[in-house]
Amino acid sequence: IEPPLGSTVIPVVNKLREVLAKVGGGDSELELPQVAVVGSQSSGKSSVLESLVGRDFLPRGSDICTRRPLLLQLVRTDDETGEFGEFWHMPGRKFFDFSQIRAEIRAETDREAGGNKRVSNKQICLKIYSHRVLDMTLVDLPGMTKVPVGDQPLDIEVQIREMIMSYIRQPRCIILAITPANSDLANSDALQIAGIADPDGNRTIGVITKLDIMDRGTDACNLLLGKTIPLRLGYVGVVNRCQEVTNSIFNTADCYVLHKQTPSNIIKYSQDIELNRGIHDALTSEEAFFHSHPVYNRVADRCGIPQLAKKLNQIFLQHIFKMLPELKSSIRSKLVVATKEHSNYGHLPQKPEQGSLVLNILLKYSKAFVSLVEGRNEEKLTS
Ligand code: GDP
Ligand code: MG
Repeated sequence: IEPPLGSTVIPVVNKLREVLAKVGGGDSELELPQVAVVGSQSSGKSSVLESLVGRDFLPRGSDICTRRPLLLQLVRTDDETGEFGEFWHMPGRKFFDFSQIRAEIRAETDREAGGNKRVSNKQICLKIYSHRVLDMTLVDLPGMTKVPVGDQPLDIEVQIREMIMSYIRQPRCIILAITPANSDLANSDALQIAGIADPDGNRTIGVITKLDIMDRGTDACNLLLGKTIPLRLGYVGVVNRCQEVTNSIFNTADCYVLHKQTPSNIIKYSQDIELNRGIHDALTSEEAFFHSHPVYNRVADRCGIPQLAKKLNQIFLQHIFKMLPELKSSIRSKLVVATKEHSNYGHLPQKPEQGSLVLNILLKYSKAFVSLVEGRNEEKLTS
């Protein structure tokens, strides 16, 4: 399974780029919305972003890991041989090893925010160059917490909320509101803060993580269907990889049966992340989970990272279609300017006349050039 974020949008954007290149339009005219993740600590924000990008490179864990906003710029290249990352704070150094990227994010977090759980609103900027991505920006944010730990100040809750708001308040920001399924869904921090930034729900997608570790006999079906808290753009349920043995995907009896796993495999699987099991495998086992689940099987269009990517793709496409009239009028005004300039060279000639017209233009330029050079020479002589 290829990480499908951007798959349907890439051809459209490429075509538009081609057109814009011909009329001299800059890339900035085609900017896509930026995507930010919000939610409580350890809800699975970094995991979701990673799955969407299809690479293993963000610090994740049950403790507070994301302590500075990470601005992740995906840059599309034509080079199919190498994908690499580059940090804003280390210009020129290319990271081809993605585990090194993770290590550097950790180190750079510590440099600014110290080693003891403090949070800083100073961004880390990382660019990832790849032929498989679409130019866009994703933002990984620290999670919401209530009680200060380590070196965190007393007003940590307010500070983090303000930091998050400064990103998701922007009208161009698509909010992925991440809520873990094993928490009280009705009191989701993510949906609450997203509701403040985007009261109409035009740019908020609800993401329910950890569907694999809900209590036995419960499911998130009503939430996924929007029956608990309605959300205009709807919900997607996902299963990310897990780290801890106790939180293992295979720790309920249901899952033993679903995945036909034996306990000896559990330990193996629970070390997924340590063994750096590829995102590809994670997507495959997510698919298997949803496919074999008696409840989620019925709402398959609301389940899985590929569905989330599909939803985002649709939003990007809608955004592009909304921009089209603007692009059209910008092209039209460029055409007006070009036509005017063209008319300065006289009327549009017929075929046989074209040669002499070009000759005339060349003569005009060469005369201008000669007089310029002569002017210079005179200057030299007089000085
Ligand atoms: P963040 O703090 O919101 O960025 O959360 P992380 O992405 O760091 O995830 C927190 C912990 O939960 C990590 O140990 C993840 O491996 C684990 N985790 C995230 N999503 C899931 C999931 O869908 N299922 C399970 N079982 N564990 C998950
Ligand atoms: Mg995180």
